[in-house]
Amino acid sequence: MAKKEYRHSVSLDAEKCIGCTSCLRQCPTEAIRIRDGHARITAELCIDCGNCVRVCRQKAKRAVFDKFSDISPKYKWRIALPAPTLYGQFDNLKDVGALIDALLDCGFDEVYEVAKAAEIISEATRRYMRKQDIPRPVISSACPAIVRLIRMRFPDLCDNVLPILPPVEYASRKAKEKALEAHPELTEKDICTVFISPCPAKASYAKNGLSQTSSTIDYVVSISEMYLLLRDKVKRAEPGHSESQSGISGVKWASSGGESEGLFNDRYLAADDMNNAIQVLDAIETGKFPRLEFIELNACPGGCVGGPATVANPYIAKSRILGLRHGLPSSKNYLKLMDQKPDYVPENLMVDSPIKNHIPPVRLSDDFSEAMRMMQEIDRIYEELPRIDCGSCGAPTCRAFAEDVVKGECLFDDCVVYMRRMMQQQKTGGETT
Ligand code: SF4
Ligand code: SF4
Repeated sequence: MAKKEYRHSVSLDAEKCIGCTSCLRQCPTEAIRIRDGHARITAELCIDCGNCVRVCRQKAKRAVFDKFSDISPKYKWRIALPAPTLYGQFDNLKDVGALIDALLDCGFDEVYEVAKAAEIISEATRRYMRKQDIPRPVISSACPAIVRLIRMRFPDLCDNVLPILPPVEYASRKAKEKALEAHPELTEKDICTVFISPCPAKASYAKNGLSQTSSTIDYVVSISEMYLLLRDKVKRAEPGHSESQSGISGVKWASSGGESEGLFNDRYLAADDMNNAIQVLDAIETGKFPRLEFIELNACPGGCVGGPATVANPYIAKSRILGLRHGLPSSKNYLKLMDQKPDYVPENLMVDSPIKNHIPPVRLSDDFSEAMRMMQEIDRIYEELPRIDCGSCGAPTCRAFAEDVVKGECLFDDCVVYMRRMMQQQKTGGETT
């Protein structure tokens, strides 16, 4: 079977790029190089975290989403799946019901809150954590950029990733199922789900699935686009509107730590921002880690509220979401599993197949002895470099530059620091290496 090509959600407009290198060191997988004055992304290494989108002042890096207008008229039933982060974008939102009304007013036929699904996933996770024979610590599967990072850079930790569907996937599946039940006149082809997303990583998830698991989400529209359509409608919202179907524990998933708090287990760690997440994963992999039960990692600062496709400051969004929680019950959604064992997790909540590693194509050579020779050459060149990781060569680190030289992707002369030193030595008649 032909290998399915990964469809990315971060793209580069090389014409806008001025080669400033701001994005170079923000990329957690070293996927970016500056060549001929412009950035380039190595697609196989990109995990769509959106870090480069966030730092590029030229707007040369772009997160790619569907447009609201792309939703095909062939669908007779359009279901909005708002991320809980959407709730924190409006300064005048009094309750989530008003936002649901505004979404319906935009043309959706139904709204299924991802926060509602998150409450079910929290309960399923609590059950899963009671199992004795699972690899610990369990690592959340909710942030697709983190899952892809693990599959690529920390493949030994794949078995630790929670094998339960992320809330947005469960929301999409459940919403479609319920719509079919409630509207027998509809067929599967008549229904589409539209996720309103804070980040490109979740748009990539909808296109590619988690690992082998494919997604049922049909469209992913950015929060920033929907914000513009919703802003005035939310302002005008009257009392007597729809009611939110989620409680505090679902809404909390918008910011870092919210998922963990729903587990009622103090032995957790929640870290946000890609650099912190990498440090945590490094520590788990090398065994230098306290004995904890659950690890929640979010690629974006502050959690999903810090996603590059949001409009509000993440701290303000978090505080607005805290305000919306007043009066809500802890949870409105439960699995009804009275006669089951406490560690039983229903099959329809589990990922369709295990999370597997995804090692990008061989970087050096398929031939083992040639790869060894190249590795030695990389070490030799690296020793000669200034090892200050200045980025002026167009690679994020001196080590990455040495690798690029050996692969023939650039010349040793591209290291300006090394060249300057050589010229200096020549001027003063010193020895060069
Ligand atoms: S941040 Fe990266 S993509 Fe943006 S202008 Fe600078 S080098 Fe180009
Ligand atoms: S989206 Fe993330 S992984 Fe991809 S090029 Fe940008 S910073 Fe690197």
